[in-house]
Amino acid sequence: MATNKLQVAIYWGAACGGCDVAVLDTNEFILDLAAAADIRFWPIAVDGKYSDVEAMADGELDLALFNGAVRNSENEHVAKLLRKKSKVLVALGSCAHMGGIPGLANLATKEEILLTAYLANPSVEPGNQTIPQARTAIDGMTLEIPYFFKRVFRLADVVDVDYFLPGCPPAPVQIRNVLLAVVKGELPPRGSVVGASDRALCDDCPRTKSEKKLKAFHRPYEIVQDPTRCLLEQGILCMGPATRSGCGVRCPNSNQGCRGCYGPLPGVTDQGAKFLSALASIIDSKDPKEIDEILAGLPDFIGLAYRFGLPASTLQRSYR
Ligand code: SF4
Repeated sequence: MATNKLQVAIYWGAACGGCDVAVLDTNEFILDLAAAADIRFWPIAVDGKYSDVEAMADGELDLALFNGAVRNSENEHVAKLLRKKSKVLVALGSCAHMGGIPGLANLATKEEILLTAYLANPSVEPGNQTIPQARTAIDGMTLEIPYFFKRVFRLADVVDVDYFLPGCPPAPVQIRNVLLAVVKGELPPRGSVVGASDRALCDDCPRTKSEKKLKAFHRPYEIVQDPTRCLLEQGILCMGPATRSGCGVRCPNSNQGCRGCYGPLPGVTDQGAKFLSALASIIDSKDPKEIDEILAGLPDFIGLAYRFGLPASTLQRSYR
């Protein structure tokens, strides 16, 4: 294709659509992008077919933004297709980066998920016995739908990824900055996390810290919090010590604890383990029984500390 414009594709796999909306939330910049780029494939916004991408030459796309995890054979097919057709492939958002919220499905087997969704569910027709199959023979034909994998994968588990842009969703300003860097050819070394800081969120958080230790954890509604003091030191769970900054400290500035969507700090492979270590250092007890009582205030540690990154963690899943 004879054009000087950047050739771009945007796709979602197993995702909620929030990352696509975050791209739109770059507001008027999206018009600058449209002026600088041909958007060749973006299912949420532009009518296009997989066959259009399949017909492209290898490397014809300058940039592909893939958001969402890889849950089924369709996600995997498009990930491999976009990898082949793109010079630069970016994992956009927590799901593509680390597995994201869909990755919590790795706490259940494929069979348990299908059973809950299609059989043991009050919203399905009573007596329903049908679970979708990847291939169904009907009237002499074979109907095919994507194959549901045994577990959720992050994008880097199935293809080589050039850059990781974290966040659930990434802050629109960070998306804008990364797109501008692509336009200007000013990207960092391949494999980098972009649109985020190498510092911990706590380093950028304006709340005051006092090294205070804890005797109990609280749900946010259980106490009247001091809006100037560190949430964690008030007993409200906040993943700030174990999470990359770059989001603009959005959650603590809204009186909510960080949930860790920007992922682990450089050099940390398991964000949840890092957070557990931070928690251990602020518990004010050496008595095992009292420590157990304090930890009982954490009702769902995996759902908290691995909310966005279970597939990327050392655990990956809770079954063989
Ligand atoms: Fe801010 Fe949370 Fe870190 Fe406390 S733990 S300083 S509230 S980011």
